[in-house]
Amino acid sequence: MTSRTAEVVICGAGIAGIATAYHLTRQGVSDVVLVDERPPLSLTSDKSTECYRNLWPGPGDAMVAAMNRSIDLLEELARESGNVFRMNRRGYLFASADPARVGRFIADAHEAAALGSGAARIHASAASDYRRAPDDGFEGQPDGVDVITDPALIRRHFPYLADDTVALFHGRRCGWLSGQQLGMYMLERARDKGVRLVHGAVEKIDTTGGRVRGVTVGGATLATPRVVNAAGPFLARVGRMLGVELPVFCEAHAKVAFADTLGAMPREAPLLIWTDPVRVAWTDEEREALAASRPDLLEEIPMGAHGRPEGSGDSPIVLLLWTYHLDPVEPVFPMTFDPAYTELAIRGMARMVPAFARYADRLPRAVVDGGYYTKTRENRFLAGPLPVEGAYVCGALGGYGLMAGNVAGELVAAHVTGRPLPPYAPAFTLARYDDPAYRALLERWGDSGQL
Ligand SMILES: Cc1cc2nc3c(=O)[nH]c(=O)nc-3n(C[C@H](O)[C@H](O)[C@H](O)COP(=O)(O)OP(=O)(O)OC[C@H]3O[C@@H](n4cnc5c(N)ncnc54)[C@H](O)[C@@H]3O)c2cc1C
Repeated sequence: MTSRTAEVVICGAGIAGIATAYHLTRQGVSDVVLVDERPPLSLTSDKSTECYRNLWPGPGDAMVAAMNRSIDLLEELARESGNVFRMNRRGYLFASADPARVGRFIADAHEAAALGSGAARIHASAASDYRRAPDDGFEGQPDGVDVITDPALIRRHFPYLADDTVALFHGRRCGWLSGQQLGMYMLERARDKGVRLVHGAVEKIDTTGGRVRGVTVGGATLATPRVVNAAGPFLARVGRMLGVELPVFCEAHAKVAFADTLGAMPREAPLLIWTDPVRVAWTDEEREALAASRPDLLEEIPMGAHGRPEGSGDSPIVLLLWTYHLDPVEPVFPMTFDPAYTELAIRGMARMVPAFARYADRLPRAVVDGGYYTKTRENRFLAGPLPVEGAYVCGALGGYGLMAGNVAGELVAAHVTGRPLPPYAPAFTLARYDDPAYRALLERWGDSGQL
């Protein structure tokens, strides 16, 4: 370690820690040490599907306001860097074959507009002016939501979807980017300003007298008055080093990547999400075999698979995700995955894009990886001070840390520097749980917005 002191020590160089370091430098603080026992971005932040969206449910508009700010920051970074992280704006396309969903999609689009996601546009005739998104770039595109209910219009723009699709909900301030390129770009900018990256494990945090005094990394002590806990799935463990119990838990989430040699996924597709419950169309023979070995795979799974094309140019890669078990677990590495995951995800996706069924007899060679969603109960992140002087948290970013990392990092930096806070800031502090009205709200919390 080059210097034994720092104004701020950040534990964790995932997207949360890197974004905090980057925004501290933007707010004039450069004497920052970023500590990680692994290479930057290598635990959870490089396992993401790398998508972003400004569509989030209430209560209140805090989540949409924060995400709009995060996307503003992403767009700013994309412009200044010549879009090194290939941010696009293809959108999130939710589809359904359930006629009862038509009204639901329309109501959801109006609710999204009321929360600040942008206008709701309903396309109920074949003559509608609906336009699909360009493959690349993000400038000059609409925000809000297009709901398409006309069958001819659905078929014209999305001929690859299941024939019985009756409605589409196309969120427009949404798309994807390269998370690795984004994170490395921000890390380099932060290092240019003086942020130091130190390899090692944070073992202890000295809080003598009720305030942060130092951090022990690899047996050596670094004196500092401030520490930011950005430890991803180990947020609770690092919280305990500060004597703070953080109300977070982890869920394991996997994704599969493979070369789509049969061309089932059109390369121009947006992120495709089937919203209806799905029961995989196993054959009678398969059903019989699974009844003994994996009866869970015969059940109806509440929400369908989602996926998108990955890579530019001639890339044949697709990413698919289908989460069918969601129990809280202890984070353990290396992770292990269900051997049936590839088959399940492909068969699940076949409900929405029938061409995927062609893989049923001959599964592709695939790579399954994943990580933990670290979450609060209501799936809203933590970005702010902890009840120990000089201690802060940036985490619990669930399945949306790439898109929200910027706003979370900016918030933590503003808490550290004392800059004015935006109106949504209190919604993401740990102190929100001290409010009895908020605790009562938690008891009747609805949709958490998780995909
Ligand atoms: C399958 C999957 C799909 C996803 N899809 C999306 C998506 O489409 N869009 C999106 O925005 N997000 C997505 N996410 C979520 C996103 O990846 C996470 O929210 C984000 O990566 C969390 O970042 P983090 O910095 O908090 O944690 P991490 O990336 O895990 O970083 C934490 C770091 O802290 C370090 N650390 C922990 N303890 C210590 C210690 N004691 N000492 C030193 N270092 C320590 C770790 O080594 C690690 O590098 C997805 C996640 C998964 C798993």
